[in-house]
Amino acid sequence: MADVSVQNVTKTFGSLKALNDVTMHFPDGGFFALLGPSGSGKTTLLRAIAGFIFADSGSIHIGDQSVEHIPVEKRDIGMMFQNYALFPNMTVADNVGFGLRVRKVGAAEERRRVSEALELVQLGQLGDRKPHQLSGGQRQRVALARAIVTNPKVLLLDEPLSALDKSLRVDMQIELKRIQREIGITTIFVTHDQEEALTLSDKIGILRQGTMIQAGPPREVYNNPVDVFTAEFLGEAN
Ligand code: ADP
Repeated sequence: MADVSVQNVTKTFGSLKALNDVTMHFPDGGFFALLGPSGSGKTTLLRAIAGFIFADSGSIHIGDQSVEHIPVEKRDIGMMFQNYALFPNMTVADNVGFGLRVRKVGAAEERRRVSEALELVQLGQLGDRKPHQLSGGQRQRVALARAIVTNPKVLLLDEPLSALDKSLRVDMQIELKRIQREIGITTIFVTHDQEEALTLSDKIGILRQGTMIQAGPPREVYNNPVDVFTAEFLGEAN
């Protein structure tokens, strides 16, 4: 496990500043939400932490390590996105074990870790199924098992629940939080859903037009918004 530290990160696309001098600390083992309207830079920040894009300036640390020059596959992170694509022709177990095979983990070890991960997401009996034989919620659990099977230091989630209907989404929020607590993994969760961010996280960061305008525990931010924009934006949760 590890903390994540983002310091003075700026990222421009042409003339657009997608991230403008963003600083936020994500302590070890916590659950964090990045919140903000569409286009505010949430995904860009997550992608910079993951290593899909490189910041123009500033630094990102995972644990003690500065990761600017470290490629995605060496950053020791698990990821789950809204459009979590499972391999349709592979069984659930093979989907979950994919990252282990890439890392040349032996077959017996792969079976053990896949079975552990599937138990954790409560799909222990479904390893032999194909993705099309699962419900949307179950597929999401497979994607989560796949993200954590390699025991990453950090879990990055980009709107993973936004495609689910409301009741399933609430079930998955509870489930996600339970799993996160059980394995104690530092988790950074992107959402545009205020309620989701406020109920799930230990700390939220609010972005607006690439700037981190406020970060802190949800109750503190909710009770003491820095400006009218934040107050109104968070108020939409009610
Ligand atoms: P959010 O996740 O908060 O919706 P994004 O981080 O996806 O916002 O995008 C922030 C801004 O950066 C948006 O204006 C978006 O259009 C722009 N942007 C993101 N990625 C790229 C890219 N690869 N090329 C050009 N512009 C981009």
